[in-house]
Amino acid sequence: RAKAAGGNRYEVADADSDARAIARHDLTNCLPGALDNGEFFIEYQPLVRLADGTVRGAEALVRWLHPVHGVLGPDQFIPLAESTGLIVPLGRWVLEEAARQARAWRNDDSCPLPLRVNVNLSPAQLRYPSLVAETVAVLDNAGLEPSALCLEVTESALIGADEEELRPLRQLADLGVDIALDDFGTGYSNLSYLRRLPVSTLKLDRSFTRGMQCAPADPVDVKIVEGIVSLAHTLDLSVTVEGVETGTQADHLRILGCETAQGWYYARPGPPERLHALSLADASS
Ligand code: C2E
Ligand code: MG
Ligand code: MG
Ligand code: MG
Repeated sequence: RAKAAGGNRYEVADADSDARAIARHDLTNCLPGALDNGEFFIEYQPLVRLADGTVRGAEALVRWLHPVHGVLGPDQFIPLAESTGLIVPLGRWVLEEAARQARAWRNDDSCPLPLRVNVNLSPAQLRYPSLVAETVAVLDNAGLEPSALCLEVTESALIGADEEELRPLRQLADLGVDIALDDFGTGYSNLSYLRRLPVSTLKLDRSFTRGMQCAPADPVDVKIVEGIVSLAHTLDLSVTVEGVETGTQADHLRILGCETAQGWYYARPGPPERLHALSLADASS
């Protein structure tokens, strides 16, 4: 009864109301069952090579189709999954599902390029003892080479990690898995720390490129991105930029030497079939 009342209460909330309005305990209660009930699904957002506009892969972004609240975004349940420990089985499911999808894209002969897949890792997953073994098993089962996978880890998850804590990531990196530092620039950036991390890609947070959406670009943003790209390249890291919303922005970032872009300008996150269509479209144009 309490549940039904809760449901009614939220149905009258306006569509834009923040999910914080959804009772935390309500979501916590149904989170464990949601995985068994198959309520999670993944949307894929293309990663585009700036030099030629080709789709090279996609980031897997998890969503929860909640029976009462509708589609919830990761910001609305990942923190909960982290604090309850469900992030480990949920993250494992995302990885398996994304690997299966990458295999399906590759099995499709009409797909012009071998697409790669990016999967986000939570701090709790980094501490999970079987992370390396399970990841290797998932890649094996899907018949993917390690470089078909990029694991995205946020700066804040790694800041302060010692060598021991970094070991699983380093092992994965040594196997050939690409490791990206997600939301780069939003945490406390001790730049010298970058040298110690087993990462191959910096994923620059979109806050740095907002000032390039329209011409003329914000000259300070241009300088900052220029500096980050030069730092990244000095350290042999490639740069991916998230949140690219306009062609003007994409042009700036290409000229500034960023390798890869992701954002609404190319495509919103969507079903896996759409990615296939996008990669075909750019191959034929
Ligand atoms: P993220 O990894 O930084 O993912 C990028 C976020 O930016 C996504 O939000 C995406 O939909 C959004 N985005 C993409 N292009 C644009 C754009 O052009 N403009 C704007 N304004 N936004 C754009 P989303 O899907 O809500 O995901 C939020 C965060 O949730 C992700 O941030 C990631 O940290 C986390 N997340 C998503 N899936 C998973 C998962 O499977 N496991 C874990 N641990 N975290 C996940
Ligand atoms: Mg990410
Ligand atoms: Mg990001
Ligand atoms: Mg971000």
